[in-house]
Amino acid sequence: MKIAILSRKASLYSTSRLKDAAEARGHTVQIVDYLRCYMDIASHRPRIIYQGEDLGDVDVVIPRIGASHTFYGTAVVRQFEMMGVYAVNESQAIARSRDKLRCLQLLARGGIGLPVTGFAHSTKDVQGVIQLVGGAPLVVKLLEGTQGIGVVLCETGQAAESVIEAFRGLDANILVQEFIKEAKGADVRAFVVGDKVVAAMKRQAAEGEFRSNLHRGGSASSIKLTPEERSTARRAAKAMGLRVAGVDLLRSNHGAVVMEVNSSPGLEGIETSTGVDVANTIVEFIEKNASPGKTRDRIQG
Ligand code: ADP
Repeated sequence: MKIAILSRKASLYSTSRLKDAAEARGHTVQIVDYLRCYMDIASHRPRIIYQGEDLGDVDVVIPRIGASHTFYGTAVVRQFEMMGVYAVNESQAIARSRDKLRCLQLLARGGIGLPVTGFAHSTKDVQGVIQLVGGAPLVVKLLEGTQGIGVVLCETGQAAESVIEAFRGLDANILVQEFIKEAKGADVRAFVVGDKVVAAMKRQAAEGEFRSNLHRGGSASSIKLTPEERSTARRAAKAMGLRVAGVDLLRSNHGAVVMEVNSSPGLEGIETSTGVDVANTIVEFIEKNASPGKTRDRIQG
């Protein structure tokens, strides 16, 4: 098959691992910087042009769209879909997972365990929002934050009030969430391919920190999930319509709760900490499932 990896840079770990894995299995791989593509959308024969070449003969695209380029990146994936190309993750699914609020609403609708969460913009009823999640300690998150930036732990009601008011002054959308203290600064990343969890790692926050992001000094190790956790991760990916997903869970007193579902999960942390060849698993999945024109997103929302 001819596989295009939509990625800004060939040297990124995940991009180069996917390329090597696909080539090792006999496929032809092209890395396409989606920001440098342009599209012919008006014609009855939709086209994508990259470096002077028409990408009409691609069979499969693997989108690796950066969070800051969701808009243009998903438009390129959508154009491929219109050309009948199989997208490992479809444009709609990527777009919905990028919107944290939409993601949580869909997961809630699917009956998937979530931390008690409120969402606000500029309500004057700050106490009401705080009480909604059971009072302090609680976590306030900027809706647009990534890599743990804009995630604040408020230990007291007073701190929570100040933080919510400060964010209100910034005209920001915020999530207010119960603090899962019993997670003890750890979260779980379950890597889902198709309807299976193929690898899982635990990320532990650095001493004195509650955010376990690897970018914030967290450390990763392999972990065995319970059947309930596996099922939660699989259902979360399915609710978002993602075939490849990184599902982030917290282990709470009321079971596994989903924090986020990532549509371009990185391979480096998960492969190094678990030893699983995730790239090869993704290529195998493509071989079994890809066929032209198989784009059909059925999630309503
Ligand atoms: P980002 O998407 O910016 O990484 P997250 O919502 O994933 O933000 O939060 C970053 C980290 O903070 C998580 O990986 C987790 O370790 C911790 N965290 C987030 N929300 C909670 C919560 N409600 N209770 C306990 N820890 C949390």
